[in-house]
Amino acid sequence: MVAHVVPSVHTTADPTYQTALRQYDRAVAYLDIPDGLAEFMKWPRRELTVNFPVRLDDGQIQIFTGFRVHHNTVLGPSKGGVRYSTHVNLDEIRALAMWMTWKCALVNLPYGGAKGGVIVDPKAHSMSELANLTRRFTSEIILLIGPNIDIPAPDMGTNAQTMAWMMDTYSMTMGYSVPAVVTGKPLNIGGSMGREEATGRGVIVCMLEALRQYGFNRSPKDISVVVQGFGNVGMNAAKRAYELGFKVVAVSDVSGGYYNPRGLNIRELVDYVNRHPKKQLDGFRGPDRVTNAELLELPCDVLIPAALEGQLTAENAPRVRAKLIVEGANGPTLPEADDIFIERGIPVIPDILANAGGVTVSYFEWVQGLQEFFWDEDEVYRRLERILVRAYDEVVHTMEANNVDMRTAAQITAINRVAQATLTRGFYP
Ligand code: NAD
Repeated sequence: MVAHVVPSVHTTADPTYQTALRQYDRAVAYLDIPDGLAEFMKWPRRELTVNFPVRLDDGQIQIFTGFRVHHNTVLGPSKGGVRYSTHVNLDEIRALAMWMTWKCALVNLPYGGAKGGVIVDPKAHSMSELANLTRRFTSEIILLIGPNIDIPAPDMGTNAQTMAWMMDTYSMTMGYSVPAVVTGKPLNIGGSMGREEATGRGVIVCMLEALRQYGFNRSPKDISVVVQGFGNVGMNAAKRAYELGFKVVAVSDVSGGYYNPRGLNIRELVDYVNRHPKKQLDGFRGPDRVTNAELLELPCDVLIPAALEGQLTAENAPRVRAKLIVEGANGPTLPEADDIFIERGIPVIPDILANAGGVTVSYFEWVQGLQEFFWDEDEVYRRLERILVRAYDEVVHTMEANNVDMRTAAQITAINRVAQATLTRGFYP
């Protein structure tokens, strides 16, 4: 096997990238593939760092840094979100791009994996500043994106409006409208029905499968659910669980959380957040307040971490009282915590399966956009459920065949799909 000249990628200090690499090493060991191929799939294919100026409302110019990483493009054009957060760094984006490769492969979408981000606190900027920033960032990474190259979508800190600005900037540069360059767009410019809710809804589809698999035979009203994060994923997961009659006992966001062991009224909380100037839970009256750290350790049947990476650690995993964990966020569980949950017999439905609903409906949006033929909500949800349940069953099959935990099984399934496609295509030249 050939040695690398740039060793830094695999010797990262970033805990998120360390997590992604350790998960990969753990899973790839089960595959009978050439060492060189295993090494190839570990590396990001291409990476772009951009530093760019943005004019603020007061006339000042501020410089921002952003990234776009294509991890692997063997199965098709790359796909992955754009994140706006002060925590963004290149290694985090590399990890998220790698997870996108496995996620798309796991649910059998014809995509590779990518991710992008800008180091910015979106809540500290006006709409016009965010529009300027998004347009300039799009222009800076335009050589890497396109409907057949790499298709961005929303992630933390970005939303449908961000995608509208990206799509418009790309279209203005091309000279004609290219809706399929991004997904997660508003409906009136080619978005898909159900995309906004898709990730949260998919989390609940996987939760239902897991409840069945692990023999929770009680009625939903007797099954308690805790959700960390009340943004796109967390809010929609809580909403869907509540609609289905589950007892959502705690929710939280960056401003802290609320807990009521008898169940929260999620509809009221959603209305409150939608009216809040910062779209936060802060200031809601009624239930007991809990911190995010306390929320993760509340007694409950299902814990859905749907905010950030690295929330479940070696430190708090022994105190987690949930009986089942369904990962809405990407990378919320560190490998040491995974080991503790395996030992304690707490199943973890892994991110690349549990939150794959978002990219699946993004794929539907892309297909609808390319065909200029749009589906109704029922059709979207029916197809979404079919894809997720099939992927869930495949993961269970791999889990049983290899006697491994569910994360490792999901990664084995996904990595093998990319490996086999790579072998079929061969190494160029
Ligand atoms: P979002 O920006 O819409 O919401 C993030 C939520 O997390 C907000 O409620 C925020 O207040 C909360 N949060 C931030 N910091 C926190 C902290 N320290 N403690 C507790 N809560 C905190 O983002 P999102 O799109 O919902 O993404 C959440 C996670 O889901 C990310 O890991 C993202 O990569 C992943 N994900 C998102 C999608 C999607 O379609 N949006 C798809 C797959 C995975």
